[in-house]
Amino acid sequence: MPTPLSETASLLSDAQWQALASRDRGADGSFFYAVTTTGVFCKPSCPGRPLRKNVLAFECTEQALMAGFRPCKRCRPLG
Ligand SMILES: [Zn+2]
Repeated sequence: MPTPLSETASLLSDAQWQALASRDRGADGSFFYAVTTTGVFCKPSCPGRPLRKNVLAFECTEQALMAGFRPCKRCRPLG
């Protein structure tokens, strides 16, 4: 399991959570979120609906990978 909080991860801001909750494609690329319970990270527009308490924000995919998360197979954050 990835560590819940690494130096590069942060909790989602309200604006980031809103983008995630509304699947805002306009937010894609500005940040990525990782779900601690599943160990995957996603683009903001991913159809998944995680609980906010299980979500961490990353500025880029490299940071999420470094923290031990895998790219989501649904939204393909690396592609
Ligand atoms: Zn995803």
